Amino acid sequence: MPRNVATLRWLARLITPGAWLLVATWGLQQVEPARLAVAPYARFFCFGAVAAAGLISWYYSQGRVVFSALVLGLAVWGLTLPASADISKLAAAFLLPLNIALFAFLSERGTVTPSGLMKLALISIESIGVVMLGELRGGRLAALLRWGQDAAGPNSIPLAPQLSFAAAALMLLGLVLFRRTRVEMGLLWALVAAFVGLRHTGKAEEPLFYFGAAGLILFYEALEHGYEVAHRDELTGLPGRRTLKELMSHLGGRYAVAMCDVDHFKAFNDTYGHDAGDQVLKFVASMISRVRGGARAFRYGGEEFTVVFPGRSAMEAQPFVESLRQVIAASGFRLRGPRGPKKETEHATEPGPAKSVTITISIGVAENSSKLSTPEMVLEAADGALYRAKESGRNCVRLAESIPA
Ligand code: GH3
Ligand code: MG
Ligand code: MG
Repeated sequence: MPRNVATLRWLARLITPGAWLLVATWGLQQVEPARLAVAPYARFFCFGAVAAAGLISWYYSQGRVVFSALVLGLAVWGLTLPASADISKLAAAFLLPLNIALFAFLSERGTVTPSGLMKLALISIESIGVVMLGELRGGRLAALLRWGQDAAGPNSIPLAPQLSFAAAALMLLGLVLFRRTRVEMGLLWALVAAFVGLRHTGKAEEPLFYFGAAGLILFYEALEHGYEVAHRDELTGLPGRRTLKELMSHLGGRYAVAMCDVDHFKAFNDTYGHDAGDQVLKFVASMISRVRGGARAFRYGGEEFTVVFPGRSAMEAQPFVESLRQVIAASGFRLRGPRGPKKETEHATEPGPAKSVTITISIGVAENSSKLSTPEMVLEAADGALYRAKESGRNCVRLAESIPA
Protein backbone atom coordinates (compact mmCIF):
# COMPACT_ATOMS: atom_id res chain seq x y z
CA MET A 1 0.00 0.00 0.00
CA PRO A 2 1.47 3.44 -0.87
CA ARG A 3 2.65 5.32 2.22
CA ASN A 4 0.30 8.31 1.82
CA VAL A 5 -2.74 6.02 1.49
CA ALA A 6 -1.67 4.19 4.66
CA THR A 7 -1.29 7.53 6.47
CA LEU A 8 -4.74 8.65 5.31
CA ARG A 9 -6.24 5.37 6.50
CA TRP A 10 -4.54 5.80 9.84
CA LEU A 11 -5.88 9.35 10.17
CA ALA A 12 -9.37 8.12 9.29
CA ARG A 13 -9.02 5.45 11.99
CA LEU A 14 -7.83 8.11 14.43
CA ILE A 15 -10.91 10.30 14.09
CA THR A 16 -13.40 7.40 13.97
CA PRO A 17 -15.63 7.34 15.93
CA GLY A 18 -14.30 9.85 18.52
CA ALA A 19 -14.59 12.99 16.41
CA TRP A 20 -17.98 11.99 14.94
CA LEU A 21 -19.47 11.20 18.33
CA LEU A 22 -18.25 14.49 19.73
CA VAL A 23 -19.68 16.45 16.81
CA ALA A 24 -22.99 14.56 17.14
CA THR A 25 -23.15 15.32 20.88
CA TRP A 26 -22.36 18.97 20.27
CA GLY A 27 -24.99 19.14 17.49
CA LEU A 28 -27.59 17.63 19.79
CA GLN A 29 -26.93 20.33 22.38
CA GLN A 30 -27.39 23.09 19.81
CA VAL A 31 -30.84 22.05 18.56
CA GLU A 32 -33.08 23.07 21.42
CA PRO A 33 -36.11 20.80 20.71
CA ALA A 34 -33.82 17.77 20.30
CA ARG A 35 -31.90 18.64 23.46
CA LEU A 36 -35.10 18.95 25.48
CA ALA A 37 -36.48 15.72 24.03
CA VAL A 38 -33.45 13.65 25.07
CA ALA A 39 -32.68 15.46 28.34
CA PRO A 40 -34.75 13.08 30.53
CA TYR A 41 -32.65 10.14 29.31
CA ALA A 42 -29.26 11.81 29.89
CA ARG A 43 -28.50 9.89 33.07
CA PHE A 44 -29.43 6.48 31.60
CA PHE A 45 -27.41 7.22 28.49
CA CYS A 46 -24.33 8.40 30.38
CA PHE A 47 -24.08 5.67 33.00
CA GLY A 48 -25.32 3.00 30.56
CA ALA A 49 -22.58 3.86 28.04
CA VAL A 50 -19.84 4.08 30.67
CA ALA A 51 -20.95 0.80 32.30
CA ALA A 52 -21.14 -0.93 28.90
CA ALA A 53 -17.60 0.28 28.10
CA GLY A 54 -16.35 -1.03 31.44
CA LEU A 55 -18.02 -4.42 31.05
CA ILE A 56 -16.95 -5.07 27.47
CA SER A 57 -13.37 -4.04 28.26
CA TRP A 58 -13.40 -6.37 31.24
CA TYR A 59 -14.57 -9.16 28.93
CA TYR A 60 -11.62 -8.45 26.60
CA SER A 61 -9.18 -8.15 29.54
CA GLN A 62 -8.53 -4.47 28.84
CA GLY A 63 -7.97 -3.42 32.44
CA ARG A 64 -6.71 0.01 31.43
CA VAL A 65 -10.04 0.79 29.78
CA VAL A 66 -12.05 -0.77 32.64
CA PHE A 67 -10.43 1.58 35.15
CA SER A 68 -10.65 4.57 32.83
CA ALA A 69 -14.39 3.90 32.49
CA LEU A 70 -14.60 3.63 36.27
CA VAL A 71 -12.95 7.02 36.86
CA LEU A 72 -15.13 8.58 34.14
CA GLY A 73 -18.23 7.17 35.85
CA LEU A 74 -17.13 8.30 39.32
CA ALA A 75 -16.16 11.75 38.08
CA VAL A 76 -19.43 12.43 36.28
CA TRP A 77 -21.39 11.05 39.20
CA GLY A 78 -19.59 13.39 41.62
CA LEU A 79 -19.80 16.34 39.26
CA THR A 80 -23.54 16.06 38.73
CA LEU A 81 -24.33 15.38 42.38
CA PRO A 82 -25.99 18.57 43.70
CA ALA A 83 -24.76 17.85 47.24
CA SER A 84 -21.05 17.62 46.42
CA ALA A 85 -18.88 20.61 47.30
CA ASP A 86 -17.42 22.77 44.55
CA ILE A 87 -13.90 22.04 45.66
CA SER A 88 -14.54 18.28 45.41
CA LYS A 89 -15.80 18.78 41.86
CA LEU A 90 -12.66 20.73 41.04
CA ALA A 91 -10.48 17.99 42.50
CA ALA A 92 -12.36 15.31 40.54
CA ALA A 93 -11.95 17.31 37.32
CA PHE A 94 -8.25 17.75 38.09
CA LEU A 95 -7.60 14.07 38.85
CA LEU A 96 -9.68 12.52 36.03
CA PRO A 97 -7.27 13.22 33.14
CA LEU A 98 -4.22 12.30 35.20
CA ASN A 99 -5.72 8.90 36.01
CA ILE A 100 -6.64 8.19 32.40
CA ALA A 101 -3.15 9.21 31.22
CA LEU A 102 -1.55 7.00 33.88
CA PHE A 103 -3.68 3.96 32.95
CA ALA A 104 -2.94 4.55 29.26
CA PHE A 105 0.79 4.74 29.95
CA LEU A 106 0.99 1.55 32.03
CA SER A 107 1.19 -1.72 30.17
CA GLU A 108 -1.88 -3.93 30.08
CA ARG A 109 -1.99 -6.20 33.14
CA GLY A 110 -5.68 -7.17 33.31
CA THR A 111 -8.45 -6.29 35.74
CA VAL A 112 -8.68 -8.82 38.58
CA THR A 113 -4.90 -9.01 38.97
CA PRO A 114 -2.44 -7.50 41.48
CA SER A 115 -1.90 -4.59 39.10
CA GLY A 116 -5.66 -4.13 38.67
CA LEU A 117 -6.19 -4.17 42.43
CA MET A 118 -3.47 -1.52 42.82
CA LYS A 119 -5.32 0.70 40.38
CA LEU A 120 -8.56 0.07 42.25
CA ALA A 121 -6.84 1.01 45.53
CA LEU A 122 -5.53 4.21 43.93
CA ILE A 123 -9.01 5.15 42.68
CA SER A 124 -10.49 4.45 46.15
CA ILE A 125 -7.88 6.58 47.93
CA GLU A 126 -8.42 9.41 45.47
CA SER A 127 -12.21 9.21 45.89
CA ILE A 128 -11.92 9.37 49.67
CA GLY A 129 -9.50 12.31 49.32
CA VAL A 130 -11.90 14.16 47.02
CA VAL A 131 -14.81 13.70 49.45
CA MET A 132 -12.66 14.72 52.43
CA LEU A 133 -11.51 17.84 50.62
CA GLY A 134 -15.16 18.87 50.39
CA GLU A 135 -15.53 18.43 54.18
CA LEU A 136 -12.34 20.32 55.07
CA ARG A 137 -12.71 23.18 52.60
CA GLY A 138 -10.09 25.96 52.58
CA GLY A 139 -6.45 25.02 52.84
CA ARG A 140 -3.57 25.33 50.42
CA LEU A 141 -4.69 22.45 48.22
CA ALA A 142 -8.06 24.06 47.71
CA ALA A 143 -6.38 27.38 46.86
CA LEU A 144 -4.20 25.59 44.33
CA LEU A 145 -7.18 23.92 42.69
CA ARG A 146 -9.06 27.21 42.59
CA TRP A 147 -6.09 28.95 41.03
CA GLY A 148 -7.17 30.90 37.96
CA GLN A 149 -10.84 30.29 38.65
CA ASP A 150 -11.79 33.97 38.50
CA ALA A 151 -9.77 34.65 35.39
CA ALA A 152 -11.30 31.61 33.69
CA GLY A 153 -14.77 33.17 33.69
CA PRO A 154 -18.03 31.54 34.66
CA ASN A 155 -18.26 29.30 31.56
CA SER A 156 -14.79 27.86 31.60
CA ILE A 157 -12.81 25.35 33.52
CA PRO A 158 -10.29 26.72 36.10
CA LEU A 159 -6.63 26.69 35.24
CA ALA A 160 -5.54 23.73 37.37
CA PRO A 161 -7.86 21.18 35.67
CA GLN A 162 -7.13 22.81 32.32
CA LEU A 163 -3.44 22.14 32.85
CA SER A 164 -4.00 18.56 33.96
CA PHE A 165 -6.18 17.94 30.89
CA ALA A 166 -3.56 19.51 28.61
CA ALA A 167 -0.75 17.44 30.11
CA ALA A 168 -2.79 14.24 29.86
CA ALA A 169 -3.86 15.01 26.28
CA LEU A 170 -0.23 15.60 25.24
CA MET A 171 0.84 12.37 26.84
CA LEU A 172 -1.99 10.42 25.19
CA LEU A 173 -1.21 12.01 21.82
CA GLY A 174 2.38 10.89 22.22
CA LEU A 175 1.23 7.36 23.05
CA VAL A 176 -1.14 7.34 20.05
CA LEU A 177 1.68 8.35 17.69
CA PHE A 178 4.19 6.02 19.28
CA ARG A 179 2.10 2.88 19.84
CA ARG A 180 -0.57 3.40 17.18
CA THR A 181 -3.08 1.18 18.95
CA ARG A 182 -6.80 1.74 19.25
CA VAL A 183 -6.94 1.78 23.03
CA GLU A 184 -4.87 4.95 23.33
CA MET A 185 -6.88 6.61 20.55
CA GLY A 186 -10.10 5.81 22.43
CA LEU A 187 -8.74 7.15 25.71
CA LEU A 188 -7.60 10.37 24.01
CA TRP A 189 -11.02 11.02 22.52
CA ALA A 190 -12.77 10.09 25.77
CA LEU A 191 -10.57 12.67 27.48
CA VAL A 192 -11.51 15.34 24.93
CA ALA A 193 -15.21 14.51 25.38
CA ALA A 194 -14.91 14.76 29.17
CA PHE A 195 -13.13 18.11 28.85
CA VAL A 196 -15.86 19.55 26.65
CA GLY A 197 -18.46 18.18 29.06
CA LEU A 198 -16.90 19.96 32.02
CA ARG A 199 -17.57 23.49 30.77
CA HIS A 200 -20.28 25.19 32.78
CA THR A 201 -22.92 26.01 30.23
CA GLY A 202 -25.82 26.19 32.62
CA LYS A 203 -27.46 23.13 31.06
CA ALA A 204 -27.54 20.46 33.73
CA GLU A 205 -27.55 17.47 31.36
CA GLU A 206 -24.67 18.59 29.18
CA PRO A 207 -21.87 16.89 31.15
CA LEU A 208 -23.92 13.68 31.16
CA PHE A 209 -24.13 13.66 27.36
CA TYR A 210 -20.44 14.33 26.84
CA PHE A 211 -19.38 11.76 29.42
CA GLY A 212 -21.85 9.34 27.81
CA ALA A 213 -20.15 10.03 24.48
CA ALA A 214 -16.81 9.28 26.17
CA GLY A 215 -18.31 5.96 27.34
CA LEU A 216 -19.50 5.17 23.81
CA ILE A 217 -16.05 5.93 22.41
CA LEU A 218 -14.45 3.49 24.87
CA PHE A 219 -17.17 0.92 24.12
CA TYR A 220 -16.45 1.13 20.39
CA GLU A 221 -12.70 0.88 20.90
CA ALA A 222 -13.15 -2.20 23.10
CA LEU A 223 -15.23 -3.84 20.35
CA GLU A 224 -12.58 -2.91 17.76
CA HIS A 225 -9.93 -4.39 20.00
CA GLY A 226 -11.91 -7.65 20.19
CA TYR A 227 -12.17 -7.71 16.40
CA GLU A 228 -8.45 -7.08 15.94
CA VAL A 229 -7.51 -9.82 18.39
CA ALA A 230 -9.62 -12.28 16.40
CA HIS A 231 -8.57 -11.14 12.94
CA ARG A 232 -5.06 -9.70 13.11
CA ASP A 233 -1.80 -11.54 13.55
CA GLU A 234 0.02 -10.10 16.54
CA LEU A 235 3.57 -10.49 15.25
CA THR A 236 3.23 -9.03 11.78
CA GLY A 237 0.10 -6.90 12.13
CA LEU A 238 -1.34 -8.53 9.00
CA PRO A 239 -4.84 -9.99 9.00
CA GLY A 240 -4.84 -13.74 9.52
CA ARG A 241 -6.35 -16.80 7.85
CA ARG A 242 -9.85 -16.12 9.22
CA THR A 243 -10.03 -12.76 7.39
CA LEU A 244 -8.55 -14.35 4.26
CA LYS A 245 -11.31 -16.98 4.21
CA GLU A 246 -13.96 -14.32 4.77
CA LEU A 247 -12.62 -12.15 1.93
CA MET A 248 -12.33 -15.07 -0.48
CA SER A 249 -15.84 -16.30 0.22
CA HIS A 250 -17.19 -12.86 -0.76
CA LEU A 251 -15.08 -12.39 -3.90
CA GLY A 252 -17.05 -12.45 -7.12
CA GLY A 253 -15.59 -12.65 -10.65
CA ARG A 254 -11.96 -13.24 -11.40
CA TYR A 255 -9.26 -13.22 -8.72
CA ALA A 256 -5.73 -14.49 -8.26
CA VAL A 257 -4.05 -15.84 -5.15
CA ALA A 258 -0.32 -15.96 -4.43
CA MET A 259 1.12 -18.21 -1.72
CA CYS A 260 4.50 -16.92 -0.51
CA ASP A 261 6.87 -18.96 1.66
CA VAL A 262 10.20 -17.89 3.17
CA ASP A 263 13.02 -20.09 1.89
CA HIS A 264 15.07 -22.23 4.30
CA PHE A 265 13.48 -20.51 7.24
CA LYS A 266 14.04 -23.40 9.62
CA ALA A 267 17.77 -23.15 8.93
CA PHE A 268 17.63 -19.38 9.51
CA ASN A 269 15.95 -19.92 12.90
CA ASP A 270 18.49 -22.57 13.82
CA THR A 271 21.40 -20.32 12.91
CA TYR A 272 20.30 -16.89 14.15
CA GLY A 273 17.67 -17.73 16.75
CA HIS A 274 13.90 -17.51 16.95
CA ASP A 275 13.83 -13.78 17.77
CA ALA A 276 15.80 -12.94 14.63
CA GLY A 277 13.36 -15.24 12.78
CA ASP A 278 10.47 -13.17 14.11
CA GLN A 279 12.17 -10.01 12.86
CA VAL A 280 12.46 -11.58 9.40
CA LEU A 281 8.74 -12.39 9.42
CA LYS A 282 7.95 -8.76 10.31
CA PHE A 283 10.24 -7.57 7.54
CA VAL A 284 8.72 -9.90 4.93
CA ALA A 285 5.20 -8.96 6.09
CA SER A 286 5.92 -5.24 5.69
CA MET A 287 7.21 -5.88 2.15
CA ILE A 288 4.22 -8.05 1.27
CA SER A 289 1.75 -5.49 2.62
CA ARG A 290 3.16 -2.96 0.12
CA VAL A 291 2.45 -5.09 -2.98
CA ARG A 292 0.54 -3.04 -5.53
CA GLY A 293 -2.15 -4.02 -7.99
CA GLY A 294 -5.01 -3.82 -5.49
CA ALA A 295 -3.47 -6.69 -3.52
CA ARG A 296 -4.46 -7.67 0.02
CA ALA A 297 -1.89 -9.46 2.17
CA PHE A 298 -2.47 -12.02 4.93
CA ARG A 299 -0.34 -14.15 7.20
CA TYR A 300 -1.48 -17.65 6.34
CA GLY A 301 0.51 -19.20 9.19
CA GLY A 302 4.14 -19.77 10.19
CA GLU A 303 6.40 -18.34 7.46
CA GLU A 304 3.66 -18.47 4.82
CA PHE A 305 1.83 -15.41 3.52
CA THR A 306 -1.06 -15.13 1.10
CA VAL A 307 -1.68 -12.26 -1.31
CA VAL A 308 -5.11 -11.93 -2.94
CA PHE A 309 -5.58 -9.91 -6.14
CA PRO A 310 -9.30 -9.21 -6.59
CA GLY A 311 -10.24 -8.66 -10.24
CA ARG A 312 -6.92 -9.95 -11.62
CA SER A 313 -5.88 -13.12 -13.38
CA ALA A 314 -2.76 -15.05 -12.29
CA MET A 315 -0.90 -13.72 -15.36
CA GLU A 316 -1.85 -10.16 -14.38
CA ALA A 317 -0.78 -10.70 -10.77
CA GLN A 318 2.54 -12.29 -11.72
CA PRO A 319 4.53 -9.05 -12.35
CA PHE A 320 3.50 -7.68 -8.95
CA VAL A 321 4.66 -10.75 -7.04
CA GLU A 322 7.76 -11.07 -9.21
CA SER A 323 8.80 -7.55 -8.22
CA LEU A 324 8.01 -8.41 -4.57
CA ARG A 325 10.32 -11.43 -4.82
CA GLN A 326 13.08 -9.31 -6.35
CA VAL A 327 12.78 -6.51 -3.79
CA ILE A 328 12.98 -8.95 -0.87
CA ALA A 329 15.96 -10.81 -2.36
CA ALA A 330 17.78 -7.53 -3.00
CA SER A 331 16.99 -5.87 0.34
CA GLY A 332 19.34 -7.77 2.61
CA PHE A 333 18.04 -8.24 6.13
CA ARG A 334 20.19 -6.57 8.80
CA LEU A 335 20.39 -8.60 11.97
CA ARG A 336 19.53 -6.44 14.95
CA GLY A 337 20.95 -6.74 18.47
CA PRO A 338 24.47 -6.71 19.81
CA ARG A 339 25.35 -10.21 18.71
CA GLY A 340 25.96 -11.54 15.25
CA PRO A 341 24.89 -15.00 14.15
CA LYS A 342 24.48 -17.48 17.00
CA LYS A 343 26.93 -20.02 15.64
CA GLU A 344 29.69 -17.51 14.96
CA THR A 345 29.57 -15.92 18.39
CA GLU A 346 28.86 -18.95 20.53
CA HIS A 347 32.19 -18.56 22.30
CA ALA A 348 32.63 -14.86 21.76
CA THR A 349 32.39 -12.38 24.60
CA GLU A 350 32.53 -9.27 22.39
CA PRO A 351 29.43 -8.18 20.47
CA GLY A 352 29.48 -9.49 16.89
CA PRO A 353 29.48 -7.06 13.96
CA ALA A 354 26.14 -6.11 12.38
CA LYS A 355 25.51 -8.51 9.53
CA SER A 356 23.29 -8.43 6.50
CA VAL A 357 21.63 -11.70 5.49
CA THR A 358 19.90 -12.37 2.17
CA ILE A 359 16.30 -13.49 2.61
CA THR A 360 14.41 -15.01 -0.29
CA ILE A 361 10.86 -16.17 -0.80
CA SER A 362 9.22 -18.60 -3.23
CA ILE A 363 5.79 -17.84 -4.67
CA GLY A 364 3.04 -19.92 -6.27
CA VAL A 365 0.15 -18.20 -8.08
CA ALA A 366 -3.28 -19.55 -9.04
CA GLU A 367 -6.60 -18.08 -10.16
CA ASN A 368 -10.22 -19.11 -9.92
CA SER A 369 -11.80 -20.79 -12.92
CA SER A 370 -14.62 -23.19 -13.78
CA LYS A 371 -12.37 -26.01 -12.55
CA LEU A 372 -11.09 -24.17 -9.49
CA SER A 373 -14.41 -22.80 -8.33
CA THR A 374 -14.00 -22.62 -4.54
CA PRO A 375 -11.48 -20.59 -2.48
CA GLU A 376 -10.08 -23.85 -1.04
CA MET A 377 -9.37 -25.19 -4.55
CA VAL A 378 -7.61 -21.97 -5.59
CA LEU A 379 -5.51 -21.95 -2.42
CA GLU A 380 -4.60 -25.61 -3.00
CA ALA A 381 -3.57 -24.85 -6.59
CA ALA A 382 -1.44 -21.89 -5.40
CA ASP A 383 0.13 -24.19 -2.83
CA GLY A 384 0.91 -26.71 -5.61
CA ALA A 385 2.56 -23.93 -7.64
CA LEU A 386 4.55 -22.91 -4.57
CA TYR A 387 5.76 -26.50 -4.21
CA ARG A 388 6.98 -26.37 -7.81
CA ALA A 389 8.76 -23.07 -7.10
CA LYS A 390 10.58 -24.81 -4.23
CA GLU A 391 11.41 -27.75 -6.48
CA SER A 392 12.81 -25.36 -9.09
CA GLY A 393 15.44 -24.11 -6.67
CA ARG A 394 13.47 -21.54 -4.61
CA ASN A 395 13.57 -17.70 -4.91
CA CYS A 396 11.23 -17.81 -7.92
CA VAL A 397 7.58 -17.45 -8.95
CA ARG A 398 5.57 -20.31 -10.53
CA LEU A 399 2.04 -20.27 -11.91
CA ALA A 400 -0.41 -23.13 -11.25
CA GLU A 401 -0.25 -25.90 -13.85
CA SER A 402 -3.78 -25.12 -15.09
CA ILE A 403 -2.57 -21.71 -16.34
CA PRO A 404 -1.02 -21.67 -19.83
CA ALA A 405 2.50 -20.20 -19.65
P1 GH3 B 1 11.51 -24.26 2.64
O1 GH3 B 1 12.52 -23.44 1.92
O2 GH3 B 1 11.27 -25.57 1.97
O3 GH3 B 1 10.26 -23.53 2.86
O4 GH3 B 1 12.15 -24.61 4.04
P2 GH3 B 1 11.75 -24.02 5.44
O5 GH3 B 1 12.88 -24.33 6.38
O6 GH3 B 1 11.40 -22.59 5.30
O7 GH3 B 1 10.42 -24.79 5.79
P3 GH3 B 1 9.97 -25.60 7.04
O8 GH3 B 1 8.50 -25.80 6.86
O9 GH3 B 1 10.81 -26.84 7.22
O10 GH3 B 1 10.24 -24.67 8.28
C1 GH3 B 1 9.44 -23.63 8.61
C2 GH3 B 1 9.99 -23.02 9.87
O11 GH3 B 1 9.31 -21.83 10.21
C3 GH3 B 1 9.88 -23.93 11.05
C4 GH3 B 1 9.37 -23.05 12.17
O12 GH3 B 1 10.19 -23.15 13.30
C5 GH3 B 1 9.46 -21.67 11.61
N1 GH3 B 1 8.41 -20.80 12.09
C6 GH3 B 1 7.06 -20.91 11.94
N2 GH3 B 1 6.42 -19.89 12.54
C7 GH3 B 1 7.37 -19.09 13.08
C8 GH3 B 1 7.34 -17.88 13.85
O13 GH3 B 1 6.28 -17.30 14.15
N3 GH3 B 1 8.52 -17.35 14.23
C9 GH3 B 1 9.72 -17.95 13.93
N4 GH3 B 1 10.84 -17.36 14.33
N5 GH3 B 1 9.78 -19.10 13.24
C10 GH3 B 1 8.63 -19.66 12.82
MG1 MG C 1 6.38 -23.40 4.90
MG1 MG D 1 9.72 -22.02 4.16
